[in-house]
Amino acid sequence: MKKIHRLPPPDCLDNQKQAHKKNKFYEVLRDNNGKIKPRWNTACKEGGDISKIRKTLLEMSNQTCVYCGDKIYNTNMDVDHYLPSSKFPYLAYCWNNLLPSCLKFYQYWLTEKKEGRIDRI
Ligand SMILES: [Zn+2]
Repeated sequence: MKKIHRLPPPDCLDNQKQAHKKNKFYEVLRDNNGKIKPRWNTACKEGGDISKIRKTLLEMSNQTCVYCGDKIYNTNMDVDHYLPSSKFPYLAYCWNNLLPSCLKFYQYWLTEKKEGRIDRI
């Protein structure tokens, strides 16, 4: 895994800047049954700019996949959760849990998971 220097979070994922609307923030994370939505970009739905998250991740990795080192662009990029959002739903919205990776890695991970060969936690 490539070491990256983490930049400050975009405003929509900045806990301090979002503190004033914290209750609303967590409201947005839940579906109609009260279950947490495992989608990181939901956090930016309200007035946030989702593309800023991707842009900042690309910038801090110098446009390379943290897993394989391949060059990535906005079009072939995946936002990976280091700790899976299925097991740690609150970390789905944690800036420090988001990593830029290529779609190749994502496809590999999906296949390995589907075939039961991977369980990172
Ligand atoms: Zn990769």
